Amino acid sequence: EIKDKKVLITGGAGFIGSHVVRRFVENYKDYQIFNLDALTYAGNLENLKDVEEKDNYTFIKGDITNIEFLSALFEIERFDGIIHLAAESHVDRSISEPLAFVKTNVLGTVNLLNLAIKCAKENPDFRFYHVSTDEVYGALGDTGFFTETTPYSPNSPYSASKASSDHFVRAYGETFGLPFVVSNCSNNYGPNHFPEKLIPLFINNIINNKPLPVYGDGNYTRDWLYVIDHARAIDLIFHHGKNGETYNIGGFNEWKNIDLVRLLCGLMDKKLGRKVGESEELITYVKDRPGHDLRYAIDASKINKELGWKPTVTFEEGLEITIDWYFDNQNWLDHVTSGDYKDYYKKQYQ
Ligand code: NAD
Repeated sequence: EIKDKKVLITGGAGFIGSHVVRRFVENYKDYQIFNLDALTYAGNLENLKDVEEKDNYTFIKGDITNIEFLSALFEIERFDGIIHLAAESHVDRSISEPLAFVKTNVLGTVNLLNLAIKCAKENPDFRFYHVSTDEVYGALGDTGFFTETTPYSPNSPYSASKASSDHFVRAYGETFGLPFVVSNCSNNYGPNHFPEKLIPLFINNIINNKPLPVYGDGNYTRDWLYVIDHARAIDLIFHHGKNGETYNIGGFNEWKNIDLVRLLCGLMDKKLGRKVGESEELITYVKDRPGHDLRYAIDASKINKELGWKPTVTFEEGLEITIDWYFDNQNWLDHVTSGDYKDYYKKQYQ
């Protein structure tokens, strides 16, 4: 391992990125951690208040679609590794604004790859790590799991853009010999999650007695993983994953959406001192999302066997921590939900 290793983490002001940045800054004191983020509506430096003063941490505001800016940055700093999380990440937004997803997720990734191949030429230990999603595999029926060899079959503009960037990463490995790893993870939840996503949206709405918009019949199924378990997997893969490999990451924790909403309502009734079933009255079925995938489920046995990873936080524990976090951080919520997000929310659900 190189001392003073310079690691560039993109999207570090976002939900998952902030947990990855924190983990690396705290666990690898001899690394220099650079967080590159454009601070879109989804990025928030409040997510990293506790690390901003650390000696081994530097924040860089910048857009990965801006090649002049990126090239200048790579002239100044010689990175030994890149963990790439910056992306447009919300499926509903990808339906109303697909080009923004092509721009950041495809073009932005290719910009980084072009600079990464130069880093790899100078440093044989260099590695490009692309953080991706299980949504690239499309939808499952009632049975079966996604494995690392499941063919790609993305159904939303979001997953198509992520699938495309995964393919570019692989192609740069084949064509230019870029050392890379990719991971495809299921749905994350936990502190710092932007409130347009299901779990924080519903916690927030239950607190404020607002309707809980459930798509379609509520029967679509997702696997949920506590975000800090994902950050731990990313750490393991970055350090010990094999070049050229893909790792699936999942929580072994499948929930039908409507059951998840009922579980949340029950926990929130307790937390708020409401009578049993009170929050459930807020459930409102809304028109299904077009191209909505019925079920995602991950077979995470490869990362378990090769790297010894498995989730450590149960869903009940993780949800309780998450609920408490949203209660304790109403200021954070008020900040991130002001301005643009209010307009977006209105358009989406009203
Ligand atoms: P997020 O939307 O919370 O964060 C994305 C971050 O990227 C934000 O801080 C944003 O400011 C930044 N960003 C966006 N466009 C940028 C640009 N052009 N240049 C620089 N920075 C830019 O997303 P997240 O949920 O933390 O997801 C992070 C990554 O993990 C994404 O690549 C996503 O596809 C992937 N992923 C997410 C999940 C999940 O459940 N959230 C699951 C699997 C994989």
